[in-house]
Amino acid sequence: MRKSVVAIVGRPNVGKSTIFNRLVGERISIVEDTPGVTRDRIYAEAEWLMTTFSVIDTGGIEIGDEPLLKQMRNQAEIAIDEADVIIFMVNGKEGITAADDEVAKILFKSNKPVVLAVNKIDNPEMRDTIYEYYSLGFGEPFPISGAHGLGLGDLLDEVVKHFPITDKEEAEEDTIYFSLIGRPNVGKSSLVNSIINEERVIVSEMEGTTRDAIDTPIRKDDQNFVIIDTAGMRKRGKVYEKTEKYSVLRALKAIERSDVVLVLIDAETGIREQDKNIAGYAHDAGRAIVIVVNKWDIVETTEKTMKDFENKIRAHFQFLNYAPIVFLSAKTKKRLHTLMPSIKIASENHTKRISTNILNEVVMDAIAMNPTPTFKGKRLKVLYATQVSVKPPSFVIFVNDPELMHFTYKRFLENKIRDAFGFVGTPIKIFSRKR
Ligand code: GDP
Ligand code: GDP
Repeated sequence: MRKSVVAIVGRPNVGKSTIFNRLVGERISIVEDTPGVTRDRIYAEAEWLMTTFSVIDTGGIEIGDEPLLKQMRNQAEIAIDEADVIIFMVNGKEGITAADDEVAKILFKSNKPVVLAVNKIDNPEMRDTIYEYYSLGFGEPFPISGAHGLGLGDLLDEVVKHFPITDKEEAEEDTIYFSLIGRPNVGKSSLVNSIINEERVIVSEMEGTTRDAIDTPIRKDDQNFVIIDTAGMRKRGKVYEKTEKYSVLRALKAIERSDVVLVLIDAETGIREQDKNIAGYAHDAGRAIVIVVNKWDIVETTEKTMKDFENKIRAHFQFLNYAPIVFLSAKTKKRLHTLMPSIKIASENHTKRISTNILNEVVMDAIAMNPTPTFKGKRLKVLYATQVSVKPPSFVIFVNDPELMHFTYKRFLENKIRDAFGFVGTPIKIFSRKR
């Protein structure tokens, strides 16, 4: 379930974001000739030899106007904290600098595997110059050229070799993994603490030995859950933990490992634009979602306030129209008992399977009620539908010609499927295929 994470570390301008872009296959971060240029995306998914993994460009996390060496130290620490394998990148045109040595020292002390990449080796003649980089102490230097896309295959072969072997520990099918996301101060840590105080925490014999020791397993009504550690919940006081990019990165990582994501909203300050972005990511990633309105103790509550707040949320998060909303207070534990059941329902729907017979009855009834559209004189014909996967429930509808499946008609079918089967708390996906 958990994807391996690769972090790229190196001085500004060595080519980190160029390589990041190559690895993730689309030009999503901005490369400019200015060192230390700001970037939008620093975390994305990449694929090599059938293995998907996540890549972090640590260069995208900058902390104010700290001096270079301090920045480098922070980025190396982020890589050590967050990654399974670190690509340490140097500039093959410039040789080893003091900053490279500094980073090397920090990486060396960690027990993380480090693969050394010497970038800007744009032609074969330059390969003879890479031997000096052995002195950094990370073994064989891999010559690459981000500009020309050379040497990446060999580099990735080496990186993939160091991925942790995924043992069955994470393949516990009936455990529900969930995380909490939301702006700083919405009450993520408070809520985790309240849950932990209220429910039975399973003490692991492996305490402290697992990599994600900060995850908390709990048991409630014969159901195992794991609360995944998220941004802002460790509070160890490292400088970079206060940067927004880093907290987004941790949230994305947590979402990836989750079955259910709790999107926290502060009842006191209301909904902000920022709340939407990460929730959108969880939705796109196909995770089950529960919206949690925290600090409900502060609000004067009547039946109407709850309804009003719900309407506001529905208007703001239209793409999350399937997500249940829970109102609670982490502080006073008011209505806290409504949370775990909602998580469970969302998770059950996330893994629900519908039999092909019943599904087709629903789809055919829907078509009888609202005939399929025509386009350029051709009518869409639906042959049959079937569920192909769970987490989230995904359906394939076989048709005469997928081009004729207008998105409004697809949405109509999706709504009918939702009406029939519920799917509260989970996105569902519908694909049309030619038969
Ligand atoms: P970052 O600051 O480490 O992320 O570096 P960038 O990816 O922004 O690259 C810095 C500069 O080096 C840009 O002008 C890139 O075009 C250039 N660059 C990146 N890779 C290569 C390469 O393989 N060869 C050469 N000659 N230039 C490169
Ligand atoms: P995080 O940054 O999202 O982890 O938020 P914290 O859990 O650190 O909470 C931020 C602040 O909100 C703290 O001062 C908490 O005491 C307060 N807080 C958290 N939950 C509640 C709540 O349910 N009601 C009230 N009144 N305050 C809360």
